[in-house]
Amino acid sequence: MKFAVALFASAALATLVPASVAAQVHADTVDSSIPTQLPRTAIPHHYALTVTPHAQQLRFDAKVKIDLEVIKPTRALVLNAADLRIASATLRPANGGAALAAKATVDANDQTATLTFPKELATGNYRLDISYSGKINTQANGLFALDYKNKEGKDARSLFTQFEAADARRFVPSWDEPDYKATWDLTAMVPANQMAVSNMPAAASRSAGAGLKEVRFQTTPIMSSYLLFFASGDFDRVTKQAGGREVGIVTSRGNGDKAGTALDAEAQILPYYNDYFGTPYPLPKLDNVGGPGQSQFFSAMENWGAIFTFEYAILDDPAITSEGQRQNIFGTEAHEMAHQWFGDLVTMAWWDDLWLNEGFASWMATKATEHFHPDWGADLDRVATREGAMRQDAFKSTHPVVQHVRTVEQANQAFDSITYSKGESVLTMLEGFAGADTWRAGIRDYIAKHQYQNTRTEDLWAAMERAGASGLATIARDFTNQPGIPLIKVGPVQCTGGQTVTTIAQSQFSNDQRDAVAANPLRWHVPVRATAGGAVTRVVTNGPTAQLTAPGCGPLLLNVGQTGYFRTLYQLPQLQALQGAFPRLSTVDQLGVLRDQMALSVAGYQPMGGGLGFVGQVPTGGHQQLVEAALGTWDSLYDDFDGDAGAQAAIAGRLTRLYGPRLQQLGFMPRQGEPAMDAVLRTSLIGTLGKVGDPAVVTESKQLFAAWLKDPKAIPGSVKQTWLRVVARNADPATWDALHAKAQATSGAVERTSLYQLLGAARDEALARRALDLALTKEPGSTTSAGIITAVAGQHPRMAVDFVLAHLEQVNQLIDISGRSRFMQRLVGSSNDASLIPVLEAYAQANLAASDRKPIDQAIDRLRFQSSALPRIRSETQAWLQAHPQG
Ligand SMILES: [Zn+2]
Repeated sequence: MKFAVALFASAALATLVPASVAAQVHADTVDSSIPTQLPRTAIPHHYALTVTPHAQQLRFDAKVKIDLEVIKPTRALVLNAADLRIASATLRPANGGAALAAKATVDANDQTATLTFPKELATGNYRLDISYSGKINTQANGLFALDYKNKEGKDARSLFTQFEAADARRFVPSWDEPDYKATWDLTAMVPANQMAVSNMPAAASRSAGAGLKEVRFQTTPIMSSYLLFFASGDFDRVTKQAGGREVGIVTSRGNGDKAGTALDAEAQILPYYNDYFGTPYPLPKLDNVGGPGQSQFFSAMENWGAIFTFEYAILDDPAITSEGQRQNIFGTEAHEMAHQWFGDLVTMAWWDDLWLNEGFASWMATKATEHFHPDWGADLDRVATREGAMRQDAFKSTHPVVQHVRTVEQANQAFDSITYSKGESVLTMLEGFAGADTWRAGIRDYIAKHQYQNTRTEDLWAAMERAGASGLATIARDFTNQPGIPLIKVGPVQCTGGQTVTTIAQSQFSNDQRDAVAANPLRWHVPVRATAGGAVTRVVTNGPTAQLTAPGCGPLLLNVGQTGYFRTLYQLPQLQALQGAFPRLSTVDQLGVLRDQMALSVAGYQPMGGGLGFVGQVPTGGHQQLVEAALGTWDSLYDDFDGDAGAQAAIAGRLTRLYGPRLQQLGFMPRQGEPAMDAVLRTSLIGTLGKVGDPAVVTESKQLFAAWLKDPKAIPGSVKQTWLRVVARNADPATWDALHAKAQATSGAVERTSLYQLLGAARDEALARRALDLALTKEPGSTTSAGIITAVAGQHPRMAVDFVLAHLEQVNQLIDISGRSRFMQRLVGSSNDASLIPVLEAYAQANLAASDRKPIDQAIDRLRFQSSALPRIRSETQAWLQAHPQG
């Protein structure tokens, strides 16, 4: 609170010499050891930016006044700029004196502008005035336009910004690196009948003539450039008071009535976070601004005070939103709001530590979900998060949570499941080690100590140790500075005097380097919780082996509660004992053991039966998440038998027999007042049974489709996308044409996009080709087309890859710049086809710098492993199926 006056300094106070508090805080954080593209010769303290968008011409004009401090004598100032045309740049000393005109040169490759002055600049304070113009993009980079049909069915266009990781430089010449925090005054000239939104509330709005108005926003606190936000459009805004602030949801006009779920979530979460973080949310308001369309890179962005979220992830529309999507609205709010502290108030110094933002926001969102919606199974979601992380972490192309980021492209690529999901999993494990109260005390200390500053990972560990979590930093460093997954091998078990005694050995788990890592594993300090039926034992294993003693003589279970980030390999007698005890384990342990043992089987550490033995134990009437885990296993094995109709029919028959009755019991349609997770399970059952051709589901889908063509209300909104996906997958040409006509006739942006994407889901090859051709036309809309191609890749990865390579220039225009290199990785994500490896190699050679090919290396590692493991997976699975005809 003591920062409030300086941090909310009005424009008048923050003129040539910026507020001293802000200056000092900033100067402390400029660290010359951090890699950067910009020379450390000057520090910006305040930007006063005036922007005039010309939405129809997709360009903007702007002027920026930057109050800066030259910290090393220099003749040139180098700042970031991309796709900007600088008309003029002049510099004036803050204490008066003659203005110096700069010669501006831009380097498109380095994304910099160099302003060279006629004489050397002495150290001290200056004001830099730049007039320039730039582009409005049609994908979500910099200032961008989203086109849609408005409430009246007319063409409309709204403008938004998206700057993370390094695209503020497309909007304003700036020191566009996270540790150059500064205050911002934004003024925008927008159509008089539109609403303009930014990080702060408007300070003033006045008519500017010619149908325009000038909106000036209040000065922001000091913050990183990637958090600046601006939007303008024909918007609705709904608000509530919560936690002493105004929270709001902004949508395109007419959608305000679908914002209630998101608004309620914001209002619930803000006071909870104010308390958890111990520092109240510092800005006067918090909006979440929805935009129509989508990105291949992100769904929501945590701009300070003005979160941006694509409408599909924020609107709760009874005509189309499923229960799972409704729950995701809460999860998205919880994630982006956590960033208001972790990321916005305290920011990583450089992208190496991006996980401090993303791992933490993910972890906090799970915690908030568990707190407010205990029936949603967020504790069980942590198992899926761990498995998502390990899926990437089990290959040699993985990277440590804290990594070295050198290029803009590497910063974009850092937004991956190691950063998010391993980050979250490691935090979950560390909170378990510290205890929830000590952990929260550490978080509060960290936020209070580093607010308005930049940090590195070590600062968080230091705060935890100060709070009393002794020994935490050692464990934390092992898991964040090293890549990979510990493998704990359980030795023979003995029961002596009512206690279970065994030796556990530490190794490393890998899909594609099993022998190499076994011979020379990395070492971690691994906190292990174990039980043999009695009290839970805790040990931290470090050396190659450790003694484990657990009270009781029941089956031994490691990783009790599933918060540990490691895999556990049991010897056969223990594995069988654990399978026998499966019904008595807690749900989270059932789920965790099932996923862990399946992964060990798929990787070849044990036969497929080791994992399938647990899958077979899942009762068909069991917990929703457990049934979904079993369904997911069979769904993936079904794909592994692609081309073997007999084996696929056997799996399909088993799924119909085991899970058809569960779906019958839940019903094909939602029921009034049913538990939320029944609704979620219904969509999973319809999805998988529909995919494998379950006769009852396929027949129902056809009847529903015919009825829906006549009456759009014939399928309830919460199951509409699920049923239509079954239809689309099995579509014949007449069905595809009918779906296409519906997509064309639909004006609601979210539903329209979803229908177009379904056109890419057909199993029929000719229809998949038609979908690809359609994607390259203007018809679907500029942010929808890439999603159609992604949908085709789900069934026909090779076809999608060949098509993209044949039209690479055109396809690149359909994807935000930040997502391009990962788009190709996503296209091959469902393939087992080794012949794609040389295709990907050639793509990387031709299109990516050697430093920027990580997503392709990951895709190649996965394909190489999958294709080589497939014969073993198939034969062992066949053997298990034959030995277990009922299970
Ligand atoms: Zn995030």
